[in-house]
Amino acid sequence: LLLLAVLVAGMLALKRFAEMRLRLERLVEERTEALQEKTLQLERLAARDTLTGLYNRRHADEFLRREIARARSEGHAISVALADIDHFKRINDDHSHGIGDRVLERVARIFTERVSGADLVARYGGEEFLFCFIGIDTTGLVRRCEELRLALEREDWTTLSPGLSVTMSIGLATGNGESQAAALLDRADTCLYEAKRRGRNRVVTEQGLHAAAF
Ligand code: GH3
Ligand code: MG
Ligand code: MG
Repeated sequence: LLLLAVLVAGMLALKRFAEMRLRLERLVEERTEALQEKTLQLERLAARDTLTGLYNRRHADEFLRREIARARSEGHAISVALADIDHFKRINDDHSHGIGDRVLERVARIFTERVSGADLVARYGGEEFLFCFIGIDTTGLVRRCEELRLALEREDWTTLSPGLSVTMSIGLATGNGESQAAALLDRADTCLYEAKRRGRNRVVTEQGLHAAAF
């Protein structure tokens, strides 16, 4: 009888132990899933700009490095467009910094919702945005950049603040197989500078750099 009692007690203890193990395994599984989800959330956050929700400069730089290497090995074209809002300081001064922020948010929404065809759109600096286009010829690129430029020009900004209008200038450069990200961005920046110099609210390509300004 004593032996039987010991046996039953032993079996009960074993059963309890097995149940505890199962509960523990389930708990570990749940916590691991929660941790993975949290990591994904943090990764998403680290790649985004907090004001506009667009990709940030860190993500854009990584993307560009990766895609330039791929473009080189696969032999397709890669282009970048640097867009800079015209006289944004004046918008802040004349309409307030808060309105300036609303402009940046709406610009980001226009870029993501209404204008398609870019492989990457990022907020690259304060009022500067970076687009990356992969495998598109020059004619297509200029058309897309003009669409972007016109989308801002034609938007009714007076709903944000009376008398408000917003335009931007764009510099466009295409990788030549050798380009590093920094060199490509420099070339786009030179074109952007020229777009500003020629009066703003326009797209300038490298081919157009030396053409007579009109
Ligand atoms: P340009 O046509 O030559 O580009 O003139 P600009 O006034 O746009 O250029 P500038 O570089 O002189 O001024 C940029 C301004 O953008 C200055 C800065 O205060 C403002 N800015 C940068 N980031 C933000 C932001 O997050 N919110 C707001 N409201 N303003 C910003
Ligand atoms: Mg700027
Ligand atoms: Mg500007």
